[in-house]
Amino acid sequence: MKSMKDYSNSINPNWCPGCGHFSVLRAIQIASAKLTIPNEELTIVTGIGCSGRLSGYINAYGFHGIHGRSLPIAQGIKLANKKLTVIAAGGDGDGFAIGLSHTLHAIRRDINITYIVLNNQVYGLTKGHTSPLSGRGFITKSTPYGSTEPPIQPGILALANGATFLAQGFSAFQDQLVDIIVKAIKHTGFSMVNVFSPCVTYNKVNTYQWFRDSLTNLDDITDYKNDDYQSSLNKLVETNGLCTGIIYNKAPDIGSYTNSNLQKPLVELDLKFNKEEFSNIME
Ligand code: SF4
Repeated sequence: MKSMKDYSNSINPNWCPGCGHFSVLRAIQIASAKLTIPNEELTIVTGIGCSGRLSGYINAYGFHGIHGRSLPIAQGIKLANKKLTVIAAGGDGDGFAIGLSHTLHAIRRDINITYIVLNNQVYGLTKGHTSPLSGRGFITKSTPYGSTEPPIQPGILALANGATFLAQGFSAFQDQLVDIIVKAIKHTGFSMVNVFSPCVTYNKVNTYQWFRDSLTNLDDITDYKNDDYQSSLNKLVETNGLCTGIIYNKAPDIGSYTNSNLQKPLVELDLKFNKEEFSNIME
């Protein structure tokens, strides 16, 4: 038996009091305890931002990488040592501005890691400027007349690019978030968890109360099917992306780098295009 304390260390987080990231940290620790992951087989990789500090607060291997690059590092670690449980984490700016191309390619590559987005719809560490996930009209020092651009929809983007596991959580719904992270880690393939994690200092629009009033909890919809691509996509469109729960979960395609085939060189994998088909295409 393990408890969340087994995954805590002596470093006190220096996030602002009330920051949503405390809850995400705790949820990762509780989920790791539930799965009894050996500490030496757990690796947390982060990018830059307030969320980047997360890798330093967990009693596991940690890699605080460069901005927008948590995913290539995490994929490399997993490919080098398939025994490890690898979690990449980063903010919405890290994953959907400077790191967007890595996010897209990690989704379509479907390597067996978990990616947790600490989404507060603002850049916190650099004192509150507009991120690609900030809402239209969002006023900051970088957009004094309000952001004119529509926000990226991370869920729709993930599904459109072939995500095999997509979930969304909210820092204030701790039990649901723990359950989501457990299932995301257990999923064989790339799992993305977008967590609404309020920045209490720089985002005075998307507050805890705003999310409580705006979110639809999919766990309350008894006939919701998370293995049906079209239903999942429809739900994201219907709720404008503002829903929590496991939105989509399907078995990985042939050719994913699963635990059983991870050690094989890529050329030996049973990928969709075999040599013959490939040469036909080339002709
Ligand atoms: Fe959290 Fe925002 Fe403070 Fe950063 S600035 S620690 S995101 S509340």
